Amino acid sequence: MKKSNQDELVFLPLGGSGEIGMNLNAYGFGPAHDRKWIIVDVGVTFGDLSTPGVDIIVPDPEALKGEKILGILLTHAHEDHIGALGWLWPRIQAPLYATPFTAYLIRDKLREQNLLQEAKLHEVPLGGTVNLGPFECEFVTMTHSIAEPNGIAIKTPLGTVMHTGDWKIDDTPVVGSRTDAKALTRLGDEGVLAMVGDSTNVFVDGVAGSEGDVAGALVDLIKPLRGRVAVGCFASNVARVHSVALAAKAAGRRVVLAGRSMHRITAAAKHVGLLGDLPPFLTDEEARVWAPDEVLYLCTGSQGEARAALSRVADGTHPVVKLGSGDHCIFSSRVIPGNELAIGDLQDRLADRGVRLYTEKDHPASTCPATRAVMS
Ligand SMILES: [Zn+2]
Repeated sequence: MKKSNQDELVFLPLGGSGEIGMNLNAYGFGPAHDRKWIIVDVGVTFGDLSTPGVDIIVPDPEALKGEKILGILLTHAHEDHIGALGWLWPRIQAPLYATPFTAYLIRDKLREQNLLQEAKLHEVPLGGTVNLGPFECEFVTMTHSIAEPNGIAIKTPLGTVMHTGDWKIDDTPVVGSRTDAKALTRLGDEGVLAMVGDSTNVFVDGVAGSEGDVAGALVDLIKPLRGRVAVGCFASNVARVHSVALAAKAAGRRVVLAGRSMHRITAAAKHVGLLGDLPPFLTDEEARVWAPDEVLYLCTGSQGEARAALSRVADGTHPVVKLGSGDHCIFSSRVIPGNELAIGDLQDRLADRGVRLYTEKDHPASTCPATRAVMS
């Protein structure tokens, strides 16, 4: 497509810029009276003490009402990038494009809202390109705390914008591919008009920890433990799930999943060929009869979420996972700002039951190096 004198390339961030969560970014091309649009990500954010009674907040797409939207591209499967699709797709009604792991989890969301038949969801291979009118969109493999994170190079007749999605550069991501440095170099050489750096901590100097370092630290931490062991982490961090499962194996333990999203995300990961090298997870029935030293519970709820597995463990109401004196609970995820109180409350309740906790705040010499790495 050729550019005309009236053509403009415009960026319309409707959520996620200058704030954490509910990402919704629109790019428009063409003259003001006949502009074509694509959307990158349709996420949610979660309510906090400042929004009493509100659990979930979605972006407002009203500014795009009546506009010609050619497609919605999803960079990765975190809730702040795909979580609002179930609510907002009926208002946007454009075809969806995502790589296979993300597409699997989007399908779950569409199914829940009875939108699966109506919404057209296209799977894009890693490194694939989607042509939407004046936009040529190249998915660029990045690394992040979830499988298949993508940046999107949006090429137009007026130039290229690199929309990064969430990213870090990790040469040992444990599962999945490394950052596609060749593609980034090529795009840089070709010339980029602007980079939209949609990533948490983008202004923090320094090097992000590698998932590969965490894997070894987890083995050192878990191997000597006796009694029951529970590990809390983000279910969406497939690499961390993999690292914990390998550490369990090294310690002679089999993994039991606790929490709905653990089951959902590991199913998505297996669907795209990840986690295939692990021993099968134990069922709840098997877990009930195996000895405490032979199992490891991989739990949701490390951020203190009220209805997640760890909170129910702390209340003594979880149907499978029962922790008490002599047992251990490892928090293998960083503290998301705003969750400090909920996490502190959860940890207090576990400690009241006599459970030994391992967090980034621990300082005993035997656990500090490992836990510090675990939390990175
Ligand atoms: Zn993310």
